Amino acid sequence: MFSICKKSIGGAFVLKVCELFTSVQGEGEVIGIPSHFVRLYGCNLKCVWCDTKYSWIRQDRAQEGVDYYLMSEDEIAKKLAFGTPEIVPLVTITGGEPLLQNIERLVALIKEYRHKIVVETNGTIKPCDELLKQVDIWSVSPKLRNCGEIVETNLSWLKFAKYYYVKFVIINPWYDLEEVYEVCSKWGIPKERVFVQPDGNRPDYSKALAELAEANLKGNWGFRVCLQLHRVAWGHKRGV
Ligand code: SF4
Repeated sequence: MFSICKKSIGGAFVLKVCELFTSVQGEGEVIGIPSHFVRLYGCNLKCVWCDTKYSWIRQDRAQEGVDYYLMSEDEIAKKLAFGTPEIVPLVTITGGEPLLQNIERLVALIKEYRHKIVVETNGTIKPCDELLKQVDIWSVSPKLRNCGEIVETNLSWLKFAKYYYVKFVIINPWYDLEEVYEVCSKWGIPKERVFVQPDGNRPDYSKALAELAEANLKGNWGFRVCLQLHRVAWGHKRGV
């Protein structure tokens, strides 16, 4: 089982980092905004269509320097050259599942640089009160049955978030959109905060997008249909 990283070097906590890069946000409400990305290593799920399997696939035998790097918050800030937020306004903390690690110190440090903080999470772990206070935007991706396992989601905390939106990966729109509706009704999520996007692994991505848009209209679901900008621009390339 993957363990939460609380390793300490010289008294400072370090994080298991999968990759660091600067690009534009590719999904959801922040699509197109330049962002630094901190991708943390490890996940508590194994979604069959996951497009970042490299961030968890070998986690039971993962090696430092191969699968992940142990880095302090200061090292992360230095490597990404955070700078001022005028040019790159966001820092996105993603994974894997970033809430498996203690990101409070990283979030506090990013605040000092004045960037807006986006945390991308799968909605299975409730964030602590301090994170709810500090994180500007929660990008939550609850999993439907199409992920290959039954996932217990807890979204009761969304009402305490500063701001949030939810994203769903849709494999078969004719089944999945109804499940999206059930999940959103259960947790009181308004339609304007709900993004649905096709599986980025589909080779016929534009067709998948058109099918999803049509099913959303025909079913009168009223969700926001979204693409993955990085998928269109760079295909399956890493670090973009
Ligand atoms: S929760 Fe996210 S990172 Fe984890 S397996 Fe699913 S899609 Fe991949």
